[in-house]
This record gives sequence, structure tokens and C-alpha cells, in this order.
Amino acid sequence: MPEDLSDRTTSLAQRIAGAEGFIFDMDGTLVVGNAASEGHVALPGAVELLEKLRRSGVPYRVFTNGTAKPPAVYAASLRHAGLAVEDAQMMTPSSSAAAWFVAQGIKRVRVLGLEGVQQPLRAAGLEVVGPYEKATLIEAVFTGWFREFTFPDLEVACRDVWNGAEVTTASNVPFFAANGGRAIGASFAINAMIAAMTKKRAKVLGKPARAAFECALLQMGLPRKAASRVVVVGDDPALEMRMARSAGAIGIGVTTGLATAEIMGNCIPAERPDAVLAGLVPLLKLWG
Ligand SMILES: [Mg+2]
Repeated sequence: MPEDLSDRTTSLAQRIAGAEGFIFDMDGTLVVGNAASEGHVALPGAVELLEKLRRSGVPYRVFTNGTAKPPAVYAASLRHAGLAVEDAQMMTPSSSAAAWFVAQGIKRVRVLGLEGVQQPLRAAGLEVVGPYEKATLIEAVFTGWFREFTFPDLEVACRDVWNGAEVTTASNVPFFAANGGRAIGASFAINAMIAAMTKKRAKVLGKPARAAFECALLQMGLPRKAASRVVVVGDDPALEMRMARSAGAIGIGVTTGLATAEIMGNCIPAERPDAVLAGLVPLLKLWG
């Protein structure tokens, strides 16, 4: 059915060409980590694509699911790699979580995580209670990157939840790709402990949650109805492609990171990309 395929390709190309906004994943999509410098190296086409978007005025955001560092630190590292990313264009799950807490009227949040997890919440005017601080009337517990986690942190968080706090998290994926291997998602392990103790499952506020997509949309100045004209680009079907699918956005899977073309092609429908590309160079051709 070559006609079908060509029709699909054409219409997808038209949708990409008419995109009103782009959400890019960071690792494995725009850059790869540089173990030696702990910095980033741009993947082929990334510098050109962002520069072209910047000049055209089409809004874009870079959304990593990591909360080890505040968004501005990631943005600086991306600029160092040559990418056109201003601080305000960089998002982490703490960015979308902050927006969600504000929208819910939640003011006091126990954060299991350090500066990277906490900073965007404080910047949004929320009262952040650190893992080691004594406090009452906690409205939500928020877990993120937190290698320093200790048993007393579990105790305070469980006590908060027993007293009515909601459990929320930056990310609930067990592993992420790091320096050619896999690393444990800190919040996944912490969430599992809290869930075992309190029977409360953590609500995800980073990717692939609707809250994450809608925060990016809002930041780009786009209305909800523009979702179908937003392109989400990423290497992880369970994060970016699931987010794109559930939001009705255009999901472009790239094979420069976690998943091969075969894995992307065999995804469950909820995580299947609209198109799988070898990287950003072909996307640059489609969009340009
Ligand atoms: Mg990635």
C-alpha cells in the first residue's frame, strides 16, 4: 500500500510544517551526556533546528524529566553545547509540579529532594518544606531526584500522608539511561516505599502526565485546543510518546537515545510515535 504510506507521510509532513510549538526531550534527543565533563554534547541537527525555530518565532520548550538540577543549570549546560535555550525555555518536572500545585491552591509542600527539585517550587511562591524539616499541615509530598534519602525522610513523608497530604512525584520510571548503562530512578524507589506504607500511589507531575504537557503549552502561550498542532520530540516511548498520545499532540520518536526504531515501531498504541526518525536532521528537513 505505497499510496497509503505516502498519504500518511504527506499529511504528517504538513502537520509538522504547520506546528505551532515544539516540546523537546533533552537526553538522547537534543544532546547526549559527556561523562568526562558532566556536560552535554549536541546531537546532529540539534543546534540548527533550535536556531531555526528561534529565528522563526515558533515557541519551543526543552523538558527533561530529571530534577537533579534546577532548570537554569540545565539551560546553561545546553547553551554551552551550542543550543539556543534560554533559562525560561527549560523545564523539569518541578516546573510543571509548581504550576500544578499553584492551580490546585496547594501552598505547603514537603519536598523529598534538594535544590534541583525545590527551586522551581520556591520560584512559584510555594512554601517548600525540606526533607529534614519539622512541619505540620503539609498539603502535598513531592518526590524527585534524591540520592541522599534516609530512613527519617520516609518517616516524615509517611506521617504527612497519614495526616492528609497528597503524594506527588516528579517521575515514576524505574530506570533511566546514564553513561551507556542504566541508573535507578530515585523517586521511583522512594514512591514504592511510601506506597507500601500508606497505600497511596504517587501522582506523576512530570512527563508523561497531562500536567506536564499543559504546563509547557501554557508557557508557550498556546491554548489547549492547539495541542494537536504541537510536536513532542523524544527518545523514550513511555515518557514523551505517551505524553504526546494522551494529549493528542504529534509524537516524533527519535532513535538517537534509548529506543531503537524496532522498539518504537512495536510500542503499545498508547506509546506509539506518529513517526520514527533517525534524529533531528530528518526533522529539520520535514519542518524546514
Ligand atoms: Mg531522553
